Amino acid sequence: MWSPAEGKSVKCHLCAHRCSIAPGKTGICGVRKNSSGKLEPLTYGKVSSIGPDPIEKKPFNHFIPGTSVLSVGSVGCNFRCDFCQNWTISQEFTMRGLRSVEPEELPRMAAGYNCRSISWTYNEPTIWFEYTLDGAKMAHDAGLRTSYVTNGYITEEALKEIAPNLDAMNIDVKAFTDDFYRRRSKAKLQPVLDTCELAVKLGIFIELTYLVIPGQNDNPEEIRRFAQWVRDSLGLETPVHFSRFHPDYNLRMAKSTPIETLRLAHSIAKEEGLTFVYIGNVPHCDEENTYCPKCGKMVMERYGLRLVTNKAKEGKCPECGENLNIILDV
Ligand code: SF4
Repeated sequence: MWSPAEGKSVKCHLCAHRCSIAPGKTGICGVRKNSSGKLEPLTYGKVSSIGPDPIEKKPFNHFIPGTSVLSVGSVGCNFRCDFCQNWTISQEFTMRGLRSVEPEELPRMAAGYNCRSISWTYNEPTIWFEYTLDGAKMAHDAGLRTSYVTNGYITEEALKEIAPNLDAMNIDVKAFTDDFYRRRSKAKLQPVLDTCELAVKLGIFIELTYLVIPGQNDNPEEIRRFAQWVRDSLGLETPVHFSRFHPDYNLRMAKSTPIETLRLAHSIAKEEGLTFVYIGNVPHCDEENTYCPKCGKMVMERYGLRLVTNKAKEGKCPECGENLNIILDV
């Protein structure tokens, strides 16, 4: 996923920044270096955090619900989000304190924790692509499923390369204006939307997360255009999570998202026809549960990040048989 460029630079093809990296320098993500005319992935196998989580924490509400996942993260990011809630690792560009974990160890660790899948999460998975690709292949060989929790900035060629070994993605759509992406994340909106559409075409299961930040991306018209795009470009059954913002990093002076704002976003998305809309980061609110879009029965009940009851039968409503767009454990 790189090629030689002008002079002794190298060009990285992993994410939409497509950095040209001068000798001795790193790309925007801080973890891919031009070492003597070759692109060196500095964080291959260098792990900042690893451990089991409920799959609902990623968040995935329709991807093998109720199972445990082995979460794996490193350092660095190709975005510079002012509102990052994981900035201590995403905006860390040294390898201090990282633990070495070879990809072949991942399936064994997952089995030890009784996890049914492995997820690359906490920081942006695309930027240590080679490691995630090797790990995803080994996970599949061991009968485990795989997922990315990602900002969606991966290039078409990289996504196509990993697609046969990547089952699911939770993609952050951070706003629905390019202006927000440029000002707040130092990135662009369109590549993220392209990734969502390509993932669906490639058969990768997706859920979307929209972190609602007061006064920044919570305009009802913006939310409506986002919901219409999801419905028309990805399908109305795509699960969408409107997640609560907590003041952090460069937006410590901002306020937490009011529950009413999240409920308004939820109701706008439902008005536009989306069938599985959730509110996240608000424990014990009704909008974290799954209701059948046809008969209205509550099928999955959650508390915080845990599935409490699951009445779905083979991914369908037990009452009326409606398909609930659930990826089942195997
Ligand atoms: S992965 Fe890193 S080096 Fe590669 S294009 Fe993206 S920001 Fe640049």
